[in-house]
Amino acid sequence: MSVYADLVGQHEVVEILQKAVASTLNGDENSNTATQEMTHAWVFTGPPGSGRSNAAVAFAQALICPKNGCGTCNECKSAANGSHPDVEIIRTEGLSIKIDEVRELLTRVAWAPSMGGWRVVVMEDADRLTESAANALLKAIEEPGNRTVWLLCAPTLHDLLPTIRSRCRHLQLVTPSTAAVAQVLQDRDGISPVMADFAARVSQGHIGRARYLANNESVRNTRNTIMKLPLTLHGISSAFAAAQTLVDLATTQATEAAENRNEKEIDDLSLAYGKGATGRGMATGGSKAIKDLEKEQKTRQTRMIRDGLDAALLDIATFYRDVMMVQAGSPDALINKELAAEIQNLAEKTKPLSTIKKITAIMDARTNLGHNAAPLLTVEALMCTLAR
Ligand SMILES: [Zn+2]
Repeated sequence: MSVYADLVGQHEVVEILQKAVASTLNGDENSNTATQEMTHAWVFTGPPGSGRSNAAVAFAQALICPKNGCGTCNECKSAANGSHPDVEIIRTEGLSIKIDEVRELLTRVAWAPSMGGWRVVVMEDADRLTESAANALLKAIEEPGNRTVWLLCAPTLHDLLPTIRSRCRHLQLVTPSTAAVAQVLQDRDGISPVMADFAARVSQGHIGRARYLANNESVRNTRNTIMKLPLTLHGISSAFAAAQTLVDLATTQATEAAENRNEKEIDDLSLAYGKGATGRGMATGGSKAIKDLEKEQKTRQTRMIRDGLDAALLDIATFYRDVMMVQAGSPDALINKELAAEIQNLAEKTKPLSTIKKITAIMDARTNLGHNAAPLLTVEALMCTLAR
């Protein structure tokens, strides 16, 4: 099994990465082909779920694996789970990556690679770099001659400063087809054809979400509740109720996911500062470190609630997209086939123009949430528009 196995439908990108890795093995890195294929800074872009960070991590594995990315050796495994000394995977929990974090990272990666090959940094949310952080990073990317490879991931090229993107080689991932995702779920995860088709269809080519949905009944139930919300909208009070339900669902999900993890992190940190050590209590700095961690955890939860709401709004958008398809005379192309009757009914009662307005309102609400608008107020305003 190769490290590229999970990159569904990304043949072109995989080919480029394989060539780049192969070119570093020729032993003649100054030859023309080698310099063309391999470079020190890459940007992976693609829609959510296309696997841009999976592609970057696979490339990191292939660069440090003695067998060019077998996917099974210690090098491959430790690179993927973040425990390889030469591979840094930066996952952002907060809403932005600040200059202090980048400076600290640059200090860490200034050393030569411990194994003699490459030192690889995967930054999963390079679009969250603040401007000053991006400028600090720029200097490192421009530095020639060292063995560090930068793999930046972002939704689109426009999410990065022009100075950064102009110095990177760009790889664009595509959304895999529903059929390709369903096939992977069957072949690799042993999921039944019916479930694989459902999960792939409603996840719109997002392999991670499709797998999560196929494997979790409670997640499917939550989605079910969300998808029926548009059917409950008959006026202002139902709109407010639907908004509350949506925010509650997103909050519950984020809280459940965070609780275990937060507790464990605080325990680990307390232990590191000597909690429980006989008689002496916590070493200096311990309580401040814990306060900092709690603040960080709060930020992370805020982000998880926003991410959950965003995913829910995208799901609801597919409902109105389906209404639009029926109104446009293509009732066979539904994403939410399970709700075909309800969708048909709404399509007959409303006009295409109002459907378009509703879809636009959903996308506007997502943008506003992305700009830190208050979640409940934003969703209430949206539901009132949808209820009209
Ligand atoms: Zn390997």
